[in-house]
Amino acid sequence: MGKPGGFMEQARREPGYRPVAERLGDFKAVEVRASEEEIVAQAARCMDCGTPFCHGCGCPLNNLIPEFNEQVYRRHWREALELLLTVNPFPEFTARVCPALCEGSCVLGIHDEPVTIRQIEMAIIEKGFAEGWIQPGLAAERRAGRVAVIGSGPAGLAVADAVSRAGYGVVVYESAARPGGILRYGIPEFKLEKWMIDRRIDLLKAQGVVFETGVAIGRDLSARYLKDRFEAICLCAGARVPRDLAIPGRELGGIHFAMEYLMVQNRLLGGESVTPDEFISAEGKNVVIIGGGDTGSDCLGTALRQGAREVVQIEILPEPPASRADSTPWPLWPHQLRISSSHKEGGQRYWGMTALRFLGDGARVNGIDVCTVDWGPGADGRPTPRPRTGSDRRFPADLVLLAMGFTGLAANPFATEWGLTLNARGLLARDADGNTSGAGIFAAGDMTQGASLVVRAIADGRQVGARIAAYLAR
Ligand SMILES: Cc1cc2nc3c(=O)[nH]c(=O)nc-3n(C[C@H](O)[C@H](O)[C@H](O)COP(=O)(O)OP(=O)(O)OC[C@H]3O[C@@H](n4cnc5c(N)ncnc54)[C@H](O)[C@@H]3O)c2cc1C
Ligand code: SF4
Repeated sequence: MGKPGGFMEQARREPGYRPVAERLGDFKAVEVRASEEEIVAQAARCMDCGTPFCHGCGCPLNNLIPEFNEQVYRRHWREALELLLTVNPFPEFTARVCPALCEGSCVLGIHDEPVTIRQIEMAIIEKGFAEGWIQPGLAAERRAGRVAVIGSGPAGLAVADAVSRAGYGVVVYESAARPGGILRYGIPEFKLEKWMIDRRIDLLKAQGVVFETGVAIGRDLSARYLKDRFEAICLCAGARVPRDLAIPGRELGGIHFAMEYLMVQNRLLGGESVTPDEFISAEGKNVVIIGGGDTGSDCLGTALRQGAREVVQIEILPEPPASRADSTPWPLWPHQLRISSSHKEGGQRYWGMTALRFLGDGARVNGIDVCTVDWGPGADGRPTPRPRTGSDRRFPADLVLLAMGFTGLAANPFATEWGLTLNARGLLARDADGNTSGAGIFAAGDMTQGASLVVRAIADGRQVGARIAAYLAR
């Protein structure tokens, strides 16, 4: 244990964000990094409770949280880093975009504010990079056997890392121009600066992983080509079919899926060529975002930086309570209102509101009719929204962004060619070891679990990568 009773002396303190006026002028990271002194003080708050729920129940990677907190408190940074890297191959990503599931189950959180675990994780990994301690994970011996990984999102990268560390050859095929998946093309720069992805890709390359970008499996290379050349294949192609909204006026111009919008901005910032026709700009526009989740919040921050006139974000679900709801008692991840850095920058947020129809001039959208809904039991007893009489209102809208989540897998010709079985949710079916119904064909990440979180994709990829190494060694 670090400092007995440290949590009684030290309150939780977070470094916060850059001032709104400053951060709206660029796309750089909004979160400020805490000083080393502050991180050591915060690590001292860890109680080293008997059963660390943060580790076993909260963090999908089972990060060794009390152990690294203790090492940080003692300023044994290298030991803390070793503990962190034992289970987390890419802490620089989770430390920036993870919602910190661990903090929702921190024992200190029962009666006080939880330990700032995510911030401590960030300090450890960045100290590791600054000191030159992070090196490619070279295997002690190279082994016969090559694996093709399809998709370079966090799941694909974690599989590639685990397999190459075990000594096997890995080629990652990626249809986009650059590797990273949603880390690069979905999540905005102001949450995750993309040089961090390049830094990690360089390490993986030095480790022997080969990246073939701009290659779509099923279009540019056939499933058979891969089967003939690799001993194992891992599908990590994500689950990106967006939920649509079939209401009158949907055919009008100016209505886009959130990922289309975010992707083109990320490509532009990354120096990729984007034609004026492709670019979706919010400059000077009234923007309406449909969907109150994280993707909607990413659209909000992007639209504000592009110079939107007004941004409205609507969500059909009721507003969550300000603190942990009774339905999610500790140590569960709390259902409660979350206010992102983007929400602190501007825009209007509405809860319990649904879109009725888009209005337009025949070609482009210029408004949206909405109404309030009341939630109550439906015919099947499940909570159902009912439009409230007389609650209709109209917002001007020159740009509408649909951020209502994802419904499942895109059509993947390779999966069809191999005749892979889907589960009841329409995702790739697989067993606990990551095996799909095809011999030597594995799957990881959103493709198998549905749209989820970066930390879950990494945890899954790491585990499936280890299973693939065991399969090759058999
Ligand atoms: C806008 C947005 C913001 C998000 N923000 C957060 C966040 O802040 N925190 C968080 O924890 N989670 C966030 N998520 C969720 C998280 O990003 C995903 O759960 C995670 O990226 C899934 O990883 P993956 O590797 O399974 O798939 P993806 O990241 O989707 O990667 C799949 C890759 O496969 C490639 N691919 C697909 N088909 C082919 C093919 N035929 N051939 C070759 N390559 C192919 C794709 O181009 C892509 O690069 C966000 C999601 C979105 C959409
Ligand atoms: S990966 Fe996420 S849940 Fe795990 S320790 Fe880091 S911030 Fe917490």
